[in-house]
Amino acid sequence: MGQLGTEGGAERRPRDGERPRIAVIGAGIGGLTLAGALTATGTPYVIHEQTRELAEVGAGVQLSPNAIRPLLRLGLGPALEEYAVRIEAMEVRGWNGRPIARTPLGAECERMFSAPYLTIHRAHLHRALLSLIDRDRLDLGRRLNTAEELPDGQGVRLAFDDGTASVADVVVGADGIHSTVRETLRRDEPVFSGLGIYRGLVPVDALPPAARERLVRLWLGPGGHFVCYPVSSGAFLSYAATVPLTTGTPPRESWSREGDPDELRAAFGTWTGLVADIVAAVGTTHQWALHDRPPLSAWSTDRVTLVGDAAHPMLPFMAQGANQAVEDAMDLAACLAHASLPAVPERLARYEALRIPRTAEIQRGSRGNAGVLHLPDGPAQRRRDAQMAVHASLRDRAPLYAHDTGRTVVPVGV
Ligand SMILES: Cc1cc2nc3c(=O)[nH]c(=O)nc-3n(C[C@H](O)[C@H](O)[C@H](O)COP(=O)(O)OP(=O)(O)OC[C@H]3O[C@@H](n4cnc5c(N)ncnc54)[C@H](O)[C@@H]3O)c2cc1C
Repeated sequence: MGQLGTEGGAERRPRDGERPRIAVIGAGIGGLTLAGALTATGTPYVIHEQTRELAEVGAGVQLSPNAIRPLLRLGLGPALEEYAVRIEAMEVRGWNGRPIARTPLGAECERMFSAPYLTIHRAHLHRALLSLIDRDRLDLGRRLNTAEELPDGQGVRLAFDDGTASVADVVVGADGIHSTVRETLRRDEPVFSGLGIYRGLVPVDALPPAARERLVRLWLGPGGHFVCYPVSSGAFLSYAATVPLTTGTPPRESWSREGDPDELRAAFGTWTGLVADIVAAVGTTHQWALHDRPPLSAWSTDRVTLVGDAAHPMLPFMAQGANQAVEDAMDLAACLAHASLPAVPERLARYEALRIPRTAEIQRGSRGNAGVLHLPDGPAQRRRDAQMAVHASLRDRAPLYAHDTGRTVVPVGV
């Protein structure tokens, strides 16, 4: 790919009057990273977010080198240093504690991929991303109702729940799995995976010393799996426990639905050591149904495009949803940097062509993992464990972690 925005030096930079008016819908991880990257390239934008206050909910997220490298380029190093935990290794075990696989991370990861593997509370990542953007461009308490493309390239009319409206030349739907912007492009619905997840935080002080190790741990068992890792500079363990959700209507995907800690204990209380300790220590937990959508073959028009979960919601079984939202945002910002209004359709097409093959593969991979993580003990489980052990090297992660996005997004003045 050539230098974006210069076309080998041939493309003239647009004057301000020729610059597209960019509206980003949603200030989650994708929207804020995009805003930060647009700020870095001196590209004007406004970001509309439905919530009045950006009090981020959720628990931990894993950030792999493919997202960390661009975030470091945006200047997030100090903020990540403050809150995130540098992970030394990823360990996979059976529900009864038998070792399955171990992937070294730590210094080896930094050597191989020029970035660490980090875990962080979503609220801290959100706060760090907010520090990258110009607050005057953040329009809170504005929920998008409809986005309508006007004829003859006049832009896109945005109508909000509060009765206000505006027109933009480029609209980016960064509005999550239930995206309103996506509805203007595709009539599809999130697909229920049959699985539910409990998620929350436990103070490490309430747990045995092993909880302080800087590890991402996975335990696999019949019908479920359990993941935990430290966040908040190591003060808390973030856990995510996945189980089949068979009864009643599946609850809508939501970060804030309360779950029953006793049901969590009933599902995982007999599992090995640390799992049993964690579920015993859980006070409140959140639970929701896991959804994704099948990959799209196109997600842009001449004026409208998508990033993150709006474009490619995926099950969390490759821990890549947030990482892919960051990658999208960086590539889109690189494509839009210095774009004149007439160049927008080609730039959006270029962005889409960069992103769809990669995100579609990860969506499919995440769904595929759902089938293999919960095998009953027996021959299939032993074959899976052997495969996981064979593919545990860090080199096996290169297709994911070595991918470099938005290389041309360099903060103005650097
Ligand atoms: C259990 C679980 C564990 C996960 N763990 C990981 C992990 O370890 N690593 C990882 O990379 N990913 C993980 N993910 C995925 C990750 O959290 C998401 O993929 C990521 O948050 C997507 O970011 P986003 O910005 O696209 O959407 P969101 O974070 O959902 O943000 C969307 C924003 O848009 C706003 N919005 C919505 N509709 C409107 C509207 N109509 N008008 C205005 N604003 C609107 C919302 O309020 C929100 O602020 C996990 C997900 C789950 C469910």
